[in-house]
Amino acid sequence: MNRGQVDRSLLQGAPRGNELSCKGWLQEAALRMLLNNLDPEVAERPEDLVVYGGSGQAARNWPALRAIVDTLRRLGDEETLLVQSGKPVGVFETHRLAPRVIIANSMLVPAWATWDEFWKLKDAGLTMYGQMTAGSWIYIGTQGILQGTYETLAELARQNYDGTLKGKLVVTAGVGGMGGAQPLATTMNGGVALVADVDPIRLRRRQEHRYLDQIADGLDDALRAVGEAQRRGEPLSVGIEMHAATLHRELQRRDLEAHVVTDQTPAHDPLAYVPDPLSVGEAEELRVTDPEEYRARSMAAMGEHVEAMLEWQKRGSVVFDYGNNLRGHAKEAGVEDAFAYPGFVPAYIRPLFARGKGPFRWAALSGDPQDIYRTDRAVAELFPENEALLRWLKLAREQVAFQGLPARICWLGYGERDKAGLAFNDLVRRGAVSAPIVIGRDHLDSGSVASPYRETEAMKDGSDAIADWPILNALLNTASGAAWVSVHHGGGVGMGLSIHAGQVSVADGSEDADWRLAHVLKSDPGIGVLRHADAGYEEALETVAESDLDMPMAP
Ligand code: NAD
Repeated sequence: MNRGQVDRSLLQGAPRGNELSCKGWLQEAALRMLLNNLDPEVAERPEDLVVYGGSGQAARNWPALRAIVDTLRRLGDEETLLVQSGKPVGVFETHRLAPRVIIANSMLVPAWATWDEFWKLKDAGLTMYGQMTAGSWIYIGTQGILQGTYETLAELARQNYDGTLKGKLVVTAGVGGMGGAQPLATTMNGGVALVADVDPIRLRRRQEHRYLDQIADGLDDALRAVGEAQRRGEPLSVGIEMHAATLHRELQRRDLEAHVVTDQTPAHDPLAYVPDPLSVGEAEELRVTDPEEYRARSMAAMGEHVEAMLEWQKRGSVVFDYGNNLRGHAKEAGVEDAFAYPGFVPAYIRPLFARGKGPFRWAALSGDPQDIYRTDRAVAELFPENEALLRWLKLAREQVAFQGLPARICWLGYGERDKAGLAFNDLVRRGAVSAPIVIGRDHLDSGSVASPYRETEAMKDGSDAIADWPILNALLNTASGAAWVSVHHGGGVGMGLSIHAGQVSVADGSEDADWRLAHVLKSDPGIGVLRHADAGYEEALETVAESDLDMPMAP
């Protein structure tokens, strides 16, 4: 699938400790995070260079991966490496405070931005799918999405169920790299989850990583377990090997009450979604022998899947789309009212985005979990009044198993991220942690994405499809001193549907890092606040008024 022989020496995870193999910590951080993305403990299909999200790759092919690694090892402190869809294409002399790596992934000219064109170009070896953090080297395993899912369900619980999912049943599907966060995020909110996946290996993997409590032996067994947990008001997550639509139909036939219904199958890509009744093995075969037939069956199955979601909505369940373009494909398949249920961003996340809040994350380059526990304490000390944050940090420490380099995520807003970044840099400087800390975020963030079916769905001023903001975000982060910056197309929803940007910074204890962190960690969430203020959101306008943000034309 990906050209070149699998090179197992590059699938050993990130180097650890505080010895440099590159000329500086920024290059070293990029190298370690790239190899961390492909750590078999982290990546979904490392032999195909696929990190998560169906087809999201970290490098274009094996020779390109080797060349990126070799180039990072020789890259100077006043040079910048350019990566074009997973292939290193040039090194330029820049300056000390410039990014060490600049990345563009899966970008296509709009009229050519279709899956058909993309696969043609990919087969010709000219591009790769970067998803969000796969191709920008800051994926940290399923924890990365966990807090976003936790926040989403917490807000849903606040809006519908007095702030807790205790005794409530959440029915969903897909326990892949992202979707695997759903069962644990449900139980962290006190609820009971019933999660379908067609792939028993994925279900077992989530159980091993403690994201899923148990795997049922058939539907009767599953319903007994979830029913009992609901009656007792105890959190529980149960996985079942089944197609999503089949599970929904079967539960509806039995007149079961589902309080919350959503989905994280890989519906962004019809060739990744497994249409019922195909098994995983049959799907793999048909994908190769007759991709057209596969696509047609997948589209029809997604239509039926959404019909079942709409039926839940009619029966009174809280139904929301979880950013995988299931509704878009169902609409294409002829389900006229596919968008009758909302996306998670307008429903639950936008008020956070308007204050620049989003998925701030960091990883310990030492590989030592103690470094993360030290940074956890630093964050708790910085924001002692933020109860939800403190609760999250406690739960994360107790319940989240690290994958690859130890890492943490928590949602911080404008005025908070730079404080945390500078505090981490101080920990590194004082030797309170044993090696530098890398700080990044998801592309799903306040000011870094245009995606009309997801992050920018139903914007107040109608600016859903305006894609200037993520480009401005990447340019601004480059000017503000990020260690590496990326622009991508496609992301979680697919071709033609989103443009987004990433940035990663490094706290290596230096004065340069103080400057870089102080600037990037203000610019990056700051543009998010301005994007939402420009669209007329009250929370964003208040944040502008209360802060040092400079907005020449407030609406
Ligand atoms: P993944 O490819 O790692 O996992 C998908 C899982 O779904 C697999 O385990 C697969 O076996 C299973 N599956 C496929 N078809 C199925 C079906 N019909 N019924 C039941 N299970 C089925 O993907 P992922 O990284 O978990 O991402 C899932 C989706 O969520 C993608 O579309 C992705 O783009 C999207 N996504 C959403 C967010 C968000 O913030 N909400 C973020 C990133 C990605």
